[in-house]
Amino acid sequence: MYCLTLPRVMEISKNKVVSVHYKLDVDGETVDQSGDQPLTYLHGHQMMIPGFERQLEGLQKGQPYNFTVESHEGYGERNDEAIAELDKSIFMVDGKISDQVYQGAQLQMRNEEGHPLVGTVVEIGEDHVTMDFNHMLAGKSLNFSGTVEEVREATADEISHGHVHGPGGHHH
Ligand SMILES: [Zn+2]
Repeated sequence: MYCLTLPRVMEISKNKVVSVHYKLDVDGETVDQSGDQPLTYLHGHQMMIPGFERQLEGLQKGQPYNFTVESHEGYGERNDEAIAELDKSIFMVDGKISDQVYQGAQLQMRNEEGHPLVGTVVEIGEDHVTMDFNHMLAGKSLNFSGTVEEVREATADEISHGHVHGPGGHHH
């Protein structure tokens, strides 16, 4: 019996290398977007936030998209325990508070276990500095829009390494 063989259309699914142009809007403001080169990643390996990967699933090269990712599938909810009052001496350089430390400043720090983390200065008090270590986008709805530029099969090496090789990825 004859049957029709349709050209295989490649859809975004696990172990595909996906290139997308994207724009991220939060509260009506654009906070991030791809430049000349699209963002390239290995789908299904938790490289992107879960809601982003889930809603791109099934799309094909050339398709535009526009969707919202709620915080539970994005950067999580805000956590009050991620707000810390730290001793002001931590922020002192040569006997005075560093000029990098001001309300709203983003600071790279290390916690007691030596893990790097980024926090925002909430308030500078008499002898404490209040830091917020929540992700800046925690608790936010994220609107993503853009176009799927490319979908290809990942190589066995890429799948075992868990990242993309070549343009837009690792070179090794
Ligand atoms: Zn590799």
